[in-house]
Amino acid sequence: MKIGVLALQGDFEEHCVCLKRLGVEAFEIRLPSQLQELDGLIIPGGESTTIGKLATDFDLVDPIRNFARSSPVWGTCGGLVFMARDVGTDQPTLGLIDMVVERNAFGRQVESFEEDLQITGLPGGSFRGIFIRAPRVKQVGSGVRIICKLKDGSIVAVRQGKFLATSFHPELTDDDRVHHYFLDIVSQEN
Ligand code: GLN
Repeated sequence: MKIGVLALQGDFEEHCVCLKRLGVEAFEIRLPSQLQELDGLIIPGGESTTIGKLATDFDLVDPIRNFARSSPVWGTCGGLVFMARDVGTDQPTLGLIDMVVERNAFGRQVESFEEDLQITGLPGGSFRGIFIRAPRVKQVGSGVRIICKLKDGSIVAVRQGKFLATSFHPELTDDDRVHHYFLDIVSQEN
């Protein structure tokens, strides 16, 4: 299985480390041509405005949209923002998931937090979610399944068919279950 990690900005290296730990071939993606032959793509956390600007400058936006017609994509944190249809500003987004997102919904860097999460479909009990200036999903379309909410009701993980988006950072933990969950989606699609 070949998984690409969009490597324009943010914590793409951490995702690659997780993937390699799981025995998967991981590729850092910076050019449209590198999307060919991938089975799935991860968009890491980072600054979604920067990721969007660099993706635009490097002519990656439409190639990623085309790739996503037939292949799974997972965005974490800033990557979730970049996958959204509507983030309430004019920053570039892929519009892959029919959701409205509020950026930095839990405050500033110092208000970063962790919480034990119950994620629908994830075996093995709760998952320790790490939230760093995290977004929250405010609204979803009818094709979007909410798979995790915080205790306060905030939506922090969704699935729309072969697309997955999480507000938190599984790549910053040693717990590979969400990576496994995404790889299962990739196996089902290929
Ligand atoms: N605050 C960032 C954004 O909205 C996301 C932060 C992150 O990925 N850790 O783009």
